[in-house]
Amino acid sequence: MKAAVVKALGEPLVIEERPDPVPGPGQVRVRVEASGLCHTDIHAAHGDWPVQPAPPFVPGHEGVGIVEELGDGVAHLSVGQRVAVPWLGWACGHCEHCLTGWETLCEKQVNTGYGVDGGYAEKMLAHADFAQPVPDGIDPREAAPLTCAGVTTYKALKVAGVGPADLVAISGIGGLGHLAVQYGKIACATVAAIDISDEKLQLAADLGADILIDARKEDPAAVLQSHGGAHAALALAVNEETFATVFAGLRRGGKLVMVALPADGIIQIPVFSTVLGGTSVIGSIVGTRQDLAEVFQLHAAGRTRVIYETRPLTSVNESIDEVLKGTVKARIVFEM
Ligand code: NAD
Ligand code: ZN
Ligand code: ZN
Repeated sequence: MKAAVVKALGEPLVIEERPDPVPGPGQVRVRVEASGLCHTDIHAAHGDWPVQPAPPFVPGHEGVGIVEELGDGVAHLSVGQRVAVPWLGWACGHCEHCLTGWETLCEKQVNTGYGVDGGYAEKMLAHADFAQPVPDGIDPREAAPLTCAGVTTYKALKVAGVGPADLVAISGIGGLGHLAVQYGKIACATVAAIDISDEKLQLAADLGADILIDARKEDPAAVLQSHGGAHAALALAVNEETFATVFAGLRRGGKLVMVALPADGIIQIPVFSTVLGGTSVIGSIVGTRQDLAEVFQLHAAGRTRVIYETRPLTSVNESIDEVLKGTVKARIVFEM
């Protein structure tokens, strides 16, 4: 099978021929049909974060495909079934986080495409308990971006507790942001979309955003304040300055949800207005298996649109360049 491998951090990926992986107890082997390119995969390949992956490794945590072999003890999945293999590749099931519905915080978790090989390959392994069944009728190329971009933004809005009378700011209309806009509308909120590209802002408008803010031309904080301030802001742009900007656009009691992970990201926030404004700053990491099931359920019901462009896996390095240049409409999906 073919796989795109990070041989050294910061170096171009290499397409390699590898033997098919063999599922161990509790695992399945998946024949990957479609695999999304999340900006996190670029951070992984570049070693941007304090906890770095160990090369060689295969990135990708939006892999979707067909179960083709079951390891010992797997009873609830069957050969031929379509599953998605998300970032949360495994969690212990016993710690306080796992037991309280916060498996995404499990300290023993294993991350797909980071701690173990991921979806930039024709075949991959998954822990059966964390391989998410994809409902019939969802195209695998649409399921792929939902597997991270979808669940992450759906969860971030849940964490922010966004409701129908709220103004929610979505900063960065990329792979994550184009779905965040739609979950904001599903929550019946007023959605303000912020980006630095005409195409992204047009896409946000097409997907239902109510207020469009071009951060090249206007100050997002001032625009948000002119609307009374945002109840919540999702920081999705890979640029730490944008975190402080949308923070300044919050109303009293507002919540900044940090989602993007720019390298060496540090933000400064003013103590005085945070205290007097009762403002919250919250980190949000992907979503649980149940969150992903809900994301698929919404898509199967026709309530979300996934905007993607397909590429062959062999164009992985050019595809990464496209994402970094900001020329991708929303998400690149590798078709195997
Ligand atoms: P992306 O590259 O598809 O989207 C980023 C968007 O930000 C683009 O539309 C770009 O035009 C826009 N942007 C750039 N500069 C801007 C600015 N100054 N103001 C407003 N918008 C600006 O990336 P993505 O795949 O959507 O991922 C975004 C980030 O989220 C990455 O850092 C990724 O690692 C992170 N992420 C976090 C989680 C999590 O669970 N917390 C999950 C997935 C991804
Ligand atoms: Zn991701
Ligand atoms: Zn745990």
